[in-house]
Amino acid sequence: MNTATQAAAGIPTVKLLIDGAFVESRTSEWRDVVNPATQEVLARVPFATAEEVDAAVAAAKEAFKTWRKTPISTRARIFLKYQQLIREHMQELAAILTAEQGKTLPDAEGDVFRGLEVVEHAAGIANLQLGELANNVANGVDTYTLLQPLGVCAGITPFNFPAMIPLWMFPMAIACGNTFVLKPSEQDPMVTMRLVELALEAGIPKGVLNVVHGGPDVVNAICDHKDIKAVSFVGSTRVGTHVYNRASLAGKRAQCMMGAKNHAVVLADANKEQTLNAMAGAAFGAAGQRCMAASTLVLVGQAREWIPELVAKARSLRINAGTEPGTDVGPVISCAARSRIEGLIAAGVEEGARLVLDGRNPVIPGYEKGNFVGPTIFAGVKPGMRIYDEEIFGPVLIILEVDTLDEAIALINANPNGNGTAVFTQSGWAARKFQEEIDVGQVGVNLPIPVPLPMFSFTGSRASKLGDLGPYGKQVVAFYTQTKTVTARWFDEETASHGVNTTISLK
Ligand code: NAD
Repeated sequence: MNTATQAAAGIPTVKLLIDGAFVESRTSEWRDVVNPATQEVLARVPFATAEEVDAAVAAAKEAFKTWRKTPISTRARIFLKYQQLIREHMQELAAILTAEQGKTLPDAEGDVFRGLEVVEHAAGIANLQLGELANNVANGVDTYTLLQPLGVCAGITPFNFPAMIPLWMFPMAIACGNTFVLKPSEQDPMVTMRLVELALEAGIPKGVLNVVHGGPDVVNAICDHKDIKAVSFVGSTRVGTHVYNRASLAGKRAQCMMGAKNHAVVLADANKEQTLNAMAGAAFGAAGQRCMAASTLVLVGQAREWIPELVAKARSLRINAGTEPGTDVGPVISCAARSRIEGLIAAGVEEGARLVLDGRNPVIPGYEKGNFVGPTIFAGVKPGMRIYDEEIFGPVLIILEVDTLDEAIALINANPNGNGTAVFTQSGWAARKFQEEIDVGQVGVNLPIPVPLPMFSFTGSRASKLGDLGPYGKQVVAFYTQTKTVTARWFDEETASHGVNTTISLK
């Protein structure tokens, strides 16, 4: 469908943002943005051309000349205004997000809110971007560091947090004095664009923030572009590994936050009611499409006996469109995602796992065309089964059983992923042992989804992360700046010459 036909059909098009202007793409390649509960086409998103990517990067490069010199307090004030605008538009943002992504309205507000916290953090950039100074490192000599912006940075985001993850990226990059090119998920770019409009309203100058849409070609163009200095990626391990290798080969800084298989370990001394409630929420909330979803339950010893009660809790969750009040589990993002999840459930049955709750093909009155999969639970799962080895990214909880905490730790450390994990126990000793010995980025103790607030940094181990530094918190200031170390001596006119010194020491 070309732009004229789209307009005739009344379907809005998602715009690019280049040099301060929201513009229609000239591409011939478009994709539908679809409501996952109804299949209604909400908008058409362009796959930007190579020229459009170049124009976005050129605008960001030009804007960097002045933005890098903009006083730090001026930069900070824009983010103070921005956080206020996001608060004022919270319900509108959540409604857009639910329509295109499917999560429930309260969860959509949570998605925006977790991003808002990073914007609030960006407003404190004056305290975060401080260098260090050592006075009199030699006679009359001081050494100090400057944390200088890199230039044009880029971000590539996934579909599952279309508000939070773009807000992990461009506010901190821009607050540090960089300019930015964002490539949102092509599956749900609309809430991201509304956030971008509000960022401009808050005062981000033209060219400082640019947006291009698209798929692999646009991502590859970003990785290869000679004028982009750093690439931040969040998404699957397959694509993240590609982005990391390609961007690194082109000489860029890269950080890639990737896939997960988050294990929650339950010891028999845990508070049963709290643990089972936490597990049902963390496994099935957001239809299991959180990178920190507790998708893999490891029951230790007698905790094995809790399976029937967990199944009862999961069965009581309400499956419906995210807009319906009281919904616990909304649709998954696309028909393709639903087929993939159902295929993995079939593989689990075939490979001998016990399907103790089958959520396939729920009937949701009024939303018969929606991409719904209800809460599904497998017991008797073993490494080597596809449902254990692959990230399902849907409302499917798999259960493994072991005899000891040591066995649980060994199992988790042998899994390639290391995004999040949790232990449920009343024993401080067991929790401390788990925290010490587990090789996973985020660790929860009696908390199923331990996503850190922005004064800390989100992280990850092994196949869940490439690059040293996390996407927010203190680490991201290091990612988006170059440390320059200055050693300086100043003479007054009367100071006698020290003569020629051919050694390397400072005196
Ligand atoms: P995805 O990897 O399919 O897509 C992410 C981005 O990469 C999108 O912008 C997409 O357009 C682009 N892309 C897709 N295929 C590409 C290709 N072949 N070449 C270049 N670019 C390509 O991920 P998704 O399905 O949107 O998101 C879900 C995944 O993201 C899950 O694996 C989840 O665990 C992960 N995730 C991780 C974190 C984290 O912090 N570790 C957070 C959120 C999501």
